[in-house]
Amino acid sequence: MTEPTLQPAPSGDSGCHAGADEMRRAAAAAGKSETLERYAADYPKGPHDQPQSMCPAFGSLRVGLRMRRTATILSGSACCVYGLTFTAHFYGARRSVGYVPFNSETLVTGKLFEDIREAVFEMADPAMYDAIVVTNLCVPTASGVPLQLLPKEINGVRIIGIDVPGFGIPTHAEAKDVLAGAMLNYARQEAQQGPVQAPRGGRSGMPTITLLGEIFPADPMTIGQLLAPLGVAAGPVTPTREWRELYSALDCAAVAALHPFYRASVREFEAAGRPVVGSGPVGCDGTAEWIDSIGRAINAPQAKIDAAKAAALPRIRAALAASPVKGRITVSGYEGSELLVARLLIESGAHVPYVGTACPRTPWSEADRAWLEAHGARVTYRASLEQDLAAVAEYRPDLAIGTTPVVQKAKEAGTPSLYFTNLVSARPLFGAAGAGSLAQVVNAAIAGRDRMDTMREFFEGVGEGHAAGVWQAEPKDRPEYREAYKRKLEKAAATRKVEEPV
Ligand code: SF4
Repeated sequence: MTEPTLQPAPSGDSGCHAGADEMRRAAAAAGKSETLERYAADYPKGPHDQPQSMCPAFGSLRVGLRMRRTATILSGSACCVYGLTFTAHFYGARRSVGYVPFNSETLVTGKLFEDIREAVFEMADPAMYDAIVVTNLCVPTASGVPLQLLPKEINGVRIIGIDVPGFGIPTHAEAKDVLAGAMLNYARQEAQQGPVQAPRGGRSGMPTITLLGEIFPADPMTIGQLLAPLGVAAGPVTPTREWRELYSALDCAAVAALHPFYRASVREFEAAGRPVVGSGPVGCDGTAEWIDSIGRAINAPQAKIDAAKAAALPRIRAALAASPVKGRITVSGYEGSELLVARLLIESGAHVPYVGTACPRTPWSEADRAWLEAHGARVTYRASLEQDLAAVAEYRPDLAIGTTPVVQKAKEAGTPSLYFTNLVSARPLFGAAGAGSLAQVVNAAIAGRDRMDTMREFFEGVGEGHAAGVWQAEPKDRPEYREAYKRKLEKAAATRKVEEPV
């Protein structure tokens, strides 16, 4: 067997648009095949190879940046790091992102790894940090920079090295799981070795349910109320905001996988012997099923399960009745909660013919998929932008909930639209609070159709597509150039395939 060696990253166009196959081959040759195989199993591609979401590493970067006493260091091309830090600060990181720069020489000679090691030793101050997260982006992963050889701990500061390449992790949502899973794994091993720190506010008097997925800050309280009659409390939200919360997350009665794509994290919870329950308490049907599932997972007596449902469902039914939603709505996004949002909309009275999610199909959203399909919705996993746009064109909705390009396209067509991440994810979703709150924003958007028409009239004549804007002479479209480039790219891809080693 040959030893893996550091490899030069694929040359030329080595960004997001470089051949993913080429990057994967280089990474495998550089000793990362085990990691890539695990990612391929955890985050399967298809039906599309690469949904069009932002750089995946943003997901794990954000998880690290939101944790107290946690430092983050990126190792990657300067342009990637610029984009990632820019976006992180746009979303209010209020924290520095460490960067270890490299050039071709330091990358392939191993000096980059030594530089990272030095940076980690310099930063490892236990007075400031519980953990330092080092992330290999695409090029260092493809070159095999061996973060696994970093010390596991320096002066009591835990060192977590992860590879988050765009050619191995399809969405930024799943990159959150890469870091959350790595941290849970570390914390689980610590807990196995001896006593660990208690939660900041002390241990809960009741057994707890860990909430897996980044949810609206008020949602854990709503979920806590739903759980109380079962004799359990809402536990920490994972990804956690602090290292010590990882121990309490693991020390739970069961895990509620509210977002269904956390495969690595689920693996850690299962290794700790915790049952994992999918779906979430949305609307009446969703909440009733979810309380049943949680009750079964913790072996609650039927009387308590019935009491929990009796306490929750009338209030949710009343909230749904008080805030009905009328209209046809398409839903698409990359957060992982698309199916839950669609369920709530349908229970509120909306017609939802299409739900597209960039996330993959997993066991933890099966109940939602089955319910949605039984209620007339077409569910598309790993949905591409083209599929989301085609759904908007096909169903001509009263409201399109989607990602930025979907919203942009819908607005151009005069269709009211809402940006999933900023306007829908940033609201309570569960229990009675979710029912009222989502209807409010959705109804306001649907009622704005007249404004959309006014806006369209106002912008009439400023050009579209290649001619958008105000020009002295209208720009001439050159579809033949695009065709020529497309053919060249297809030819280059075909040549690469032929040259692929068998
Ligand atoms: S790290 Fe992100 S931005 Fe950089 S090449 Fe990879 S996917 Fe693209």
